[in-house]
Amino acid sequence: MKIVYIVAMVAEAKPFIEHYGVELQEGFFAPLPCMCYKAEVHNNELYVVLNGQQHGSDLVGCEAASVATLSAIQKINPDIIINSGTCGAFKSNGAEIADVYLGNAVMFHDRRVPGDDEWGTQALGNYPVYDKVLEMADALGFKTGKVTTGSSLDMQPCDKEIIEQNGGELKDMEGAAVAFVCSLFQKPILFVKSVTDLCDSGAETFEEFSKNLAKASEALKEANIKIIDYLTK
Ligand code: SAH
Repeated sequence: MKIVYIVAMVAEAKPFIEHYGVELQEGFFAPLPCMCYKAEVHNNELYVVLNGQQHGSDLVGCEAASVATLSAIQKINPDIIINSGTCGAFKSNGAEIADVYLGNAVMFHDRRVPGDDEWGTQALGNYPVYDKVLEMADALGFKTGKVTTGSSLDMQPCDKEIIEQNGGELKDMEGAAVAFVCSLFQKPILFVKSVTDLCDSGAETFEEFSKNLAKASEALKEANIKIIDYLTK
């Protein structure tokens, strides 16, 4: 089996990269900024694809995630794509810092397009996710929630309204873009999201995010080890 991880930030991938000893494949995606790391795990191929960097910072967000996902599918033809990363969540849903969730659905919350139902439907995305996610969450003891993606770290009142109306629970900046590309190729997409910040805590998001990034990334590593064992057993 070929497993491809799409990860936005070096900090999110680092514990995982170190654990599996994946090796950088120089020039794999040249001239694109994405980086490919590869290892063998129980006779399966594990790829970790990072969106890459620009101006000295990680390429977070939908554009870079789409490019990475498209290129990875075309070059590797994986059996499953896993988007692993951090997210904001809501304490009103019972979320706590460093909780790990699997995505049971995925949408966009900041594509406000006026028009009839068809335009609204496209704007929200609502792409299919890995069909065995609930079974997996049950077996491994993860919570599940709906991933909701936008291009900003903060949450404006108009984002909040769409998130509430559509049941968004795990706020990130890449998930729906990855799922969009996967839907074009009918590739299964699994989301593994660890909570760095609580959008309804009243705290400043970036401060909370920065404070908890290392802890959440460690939780992601532990979760991904279980997931890879489960998929490859
Ligand atoms: N300037 C930050 C950049 C992080 S952007 C830094 O220096 O580290 C936030 C990243 O974490 C994105 O990849 C996004 O997917 C995820 N994320 C975590 N919390 C989020 C939130 N509340 N809203 C949106 N994305 C969030």
